[in-house]
Amino acid sequence: MKKEIHPEYVDCTVTCACGNTFQTKSNQSELRVDICSECHPFFTGSEKIVDSAGRVEKFKKKYGMK
Ligand SMILES: [Zn+2]
Repeated sequence: MKKEIHPEYVDCTVTCACGNTFQTKSNQSELRVDICSECHPFFTGSEKIVDSAGRVEKFKKKYGMK
């Protein structure tokens, strides 16, 4: 007999490629990400980005920000 498995949200430790770790809720206890709120241009502020303006523009377009 198979038990029906529902995604269960547990405390999740997220480890970012930049070395930052933080807690969130997920259906798994560990998660690795390439970018987080500490290193993402959107969160760190595009003013600080001097050499990747094109990427920021792409990001803004993608998310409908003008
Ligand atoms: Zn990060």
